[in-house]
Amino acid sequence: MTQLTFYGGINEIGGNKILLEDGSQRFLLDFGFPYKRHKLFYEEYLKPRSGAGLLDPLAMGLLPPLEGIYREDLETANLWSAFRSNPSYRKLEHVDGILLSHAHLDHSGHISFLKDSIPVYSTAATAFVAKAIQDSGKSDFDQQVCYFNPVSFDCPTGWKQEAFLSSNVPKQQRQFCIADVAPSDLSANAVQFWSSGFWEKTPRQRELASCALLGHTGCVLNLRCFPVDHSIPGACAWGIETSSGWIVYSGDLRLHGKRAESTRRFMDEAAALKPRALILEGTNVRRVSNVAEHEVHENALRAIADSHGLVIADFPARDVDRLLTFLQIARDTGRKLAILPKDAYLLKTMRLLEQTVPDIAHNGNIVIYQDTIASKSPNLWMRNLFQEYNNKIVLASDVRTSQDQFILCFSFFDLNELPSIRPNPGSLYLFSSSEPHDEEQEIDFRRLHNWLKVFELTPFGLPVERDGEWQIPDEERGLHASGHACGTDLINVARAVKPEILIPVHSEYPNFYIENFLASGTTVFLPNVGEAIQI
Ligand SMILES: [Zn+2]
Repeated sequence: MTQLTFYGGINEIGGNKILLEDGSQRFLLDFGFPYKRHKLFYEEYLKPRSGAGLLDPLAMGLLPPLEGIYREDLETANLWSAFRSNPSYRKLEHVDGILLSHAHLDHSGHISFLKDSIPVYSTAATAFVAKAIQDSGKSDFDQQVCYFNPVSFDCPTGWKQEAFLSSNVPKQQRQFCIADVAPSDLSANAVQFWSSGFWEKTPRQRELASCALLGHTGCVLNLRCFPVDHSIPGACAWGIETSSGWIVYSGDLRLHGKRAESTRRFMDEAAALKPRALILEGTNVRRVSNVAEHEVHENALRAIADSHGLVIADFPARDVDRLLTFLQIARDTGRKLAILPKDAYLLKTMRLLEQTVPDIAHNGNIVIYQDTIASKSPNLWMRNLFQEYNNKIVLASDVRTSQDQFILCFSFFDLNELPSIRPNPGSLYLFSSSEPHDEEQEIDFRRLHNWLKVFELTPFGLPVERDGEWQIPDEERGLHASGHACGTDLINVARAVKPEILIPVHSEYPNFYIENFLASGTTVFLPNVGEAIQI
């Protein structure tokens, strides 16, 4: 009998944490950062205490009370005595692996708390993107996915010292097993990228392993990894053959991006397994149609071709497809795409796996924007990047003096550079991202509008608040292709895969599936958080 327990991703978008158990086998399907619940308690100046290790996230219900799966160095004295009476408490002897669908932190972030003896199964692109994000990011202690700072201090109080973010402590790399490429087929540069970091040599460094479990039977379950299209490279769905039949987990997916074909292939191949259950995302169930990536290209090109000054393009981080869409527009309009160092680092990383990704050094349309203040004390990764591409760097003064030559890839969090750039009034701020989803984001959108007013930038595609609703002006729509399929497409996915049981996840409106699959031969099951269901 197979058992599924959902510890996150129920009635919320993100935070997926699903435990699959079959006999003695046990896998986690994603172990994401629960942004929605996190925001109920925390904000920028009130965060879980890194020195309290597991205590704060367990006490606030951000982590499930599963003794035995977490890093022992994060256990404070008598930690578990406080949680043994929790109805969801369990002691687990082992977990065989984490099947990671993609590198968005709402799916991967809380891997940081798991024992490093639990291997992470993913595509090569997901492993590399996760490391690029961590190498070039701030990496709070609760989002250290690929490596972390082990805590090994004796403290008389039983509390661990705060050493999580110190770069002096050698880091522990996590074991990743890649499902779609044999590690021996990776280039020397790719292997070098994976093994570079702040760890001492063995045992803290862990080479990429192959996903040897795939296709094998006997000691472990059969696993299948299906590439799918999503707004980050490397996304996949998983299939797990259990004693109850195949269980398929979609991760996040769409049918309207540049790699829609891979999602279609997933639908066919998953259907061929005649699955017992499909765990399917439902982020955009209420939408009836999508904007496709090629429409974003057409609409953004029209707006930028009409613009005679500086263009700022605001699009989601890690969306390499969107970056390439704007690179094409830069080519089409004779401009240079000025990307931030972290985007350059990601692009360089992706090229280690895919030769079709543009080479920054030899692409005449890409330059790297060097931040005016922060880059005066760059981190190691940034210093290396600036050295490698030293003839590709542009400064605020370069942009200021040739404003009509650039498309600048900025988001809200980069607006601090505007006083240094001094864009000419009437410059274009093209918004190619999603509208605000919560109060905090609404406040940021109001701030963004204030910035645009001060610098007299012309917004295009930017949601405007009217009567408490945020809406993009009708004539400026079509500048963002969501990473998630609309409701109509999701119904088609479920109909094509044809599971006996459908379990919605990653959705605020899971009832959508009940309404659409009544009397269909597929039973829709809505689990509660922490409640085990037998499949
Ligand atoms: Zn995602």
